[in-house]
Amino acid sequence: MIPRIDKSRHTPAWQTALMQAVGSVDELLCLLHIDAAKSDIRRFSRDFPLRVPRGFVARMEPGNIHDPLLRQVLPLPEEDRQHTGFLPDPLREADAMPVPGLLHKYRGRALLTLTGACAIHCRYCFRRHFPYAEANPLSGNQARALEYLAAHTGIRELILSGGDPLMLPDTRLEALARALAGIPHLQTLRLHTRLPIVLPERVDSRLLAWLGELPQRVVVVVHCNHPNEIDPAVVTALRKLAQAGVLLLNQSVLLKGINAETDTLIHLSEALLAAGVLPYYLHQLDRVQGAAHFEVSDSAARALMDSLHAALPGYLVPRLVRELPDYPGKYPLWP
Ligand SMILES: *Cc1c(COP(=O)(O)O)cnc(C)c1O
Ligand code: SF4
Repeated sequence: MIPRIDKSRHTPAWQTALMQAVGSVDELLCLLHIDAAKSDIRRFSRDFPLRVPRGFVARMEPGNIHDPLLRQVLPLPEEDRQHTGFLPDPLREADAMPVPGLLHKYRGRALLTLTGACAIHCRYCFRRHFPYAEANPLSGNQARALEYLAAHTGIRELILSGGDPLMLPDTRLEALARALAGIPHLQTLRLHTRLPIVLPERVDSRLLAWLGELPQRVVVVVHCNHPNEIDPAVVTALRKLAQAGVLLLNQSVLLKGINAETDTLIHLSEALLAAGVLPYYLHQLDRVQGAAHFEVSDSAARALMDSLHAALPGYLVPRLVRELPDYPGKYPLWP
């Protein structure tokens, strides 16, 4: 007899992996055989603590404090330095919310910040100072957000974002999908998620079944900055998403000391293609307080784009963009 699994009580493997994520700088450095005493790091950051899944740590090179994956998550003393022009809310997103948690800045597209939670804490993240407690539509504002979406028939695409929308349990995603199915002008559902990259366990049979049953066209935009982030488990997860009928795109952030090299970006595009993903955006960093040490100048970024364009087929060249508070789309910086 096949044992029956009680779906409501069974803890999915991805949630177990998530609970086991590394949350201390000392443990992370110990796992990587890096001497914490000799390293210039910041041990604690209460507002935005270290968080990194163990599978992601396994893709870092032991002993290398400059590893490009480690640099994305390791808190450094540079974060405390004040830089003019680097602000807590550089995009003034609070101004573009008709309902708390619902951003409607661009024509035809609206974005829901479903949760503030992420499986990984990226040090350059522009949402690190974001007021999620007040801006979570599923905690009290879901009905208003759905009313707004239903009333604005010009919105053809709904973007689920966060934080990371796939941090929500399947029951919440399933309930949201049922509510959205009643809004026929929403033809495309897009997910902005880093989970297939940092926690590929998330792409399990229940998620794939949910995606496969959605009445909308589905686009998943993952977030991968460096080719070393793509290991065989990630490739398998991405292939399963493609098999479920999802269109897969990637967005990266251009980061000094991590991926701001022509060869790295070429390898990234090629590794993405091998996993069935096309590059979409290469973002210039949002000027958020604490992230100035990751910034690449616009002129250096454009020079990188010239090299990529010379080396890659057009469909593997991402669009270099910057987000501006008052521009009705991502602002193109190249050509
Ligand atoms: C980035 C973003 C989008 C999506 O922009 P695309 O150019 O369609 O990828 C939509 N709404 C908001 C508020 C955004 O920040
Ligand atoms: S996964 Fe995305 S939203 Fe979450 S911390 Fe990283 S960059 Fe920010």
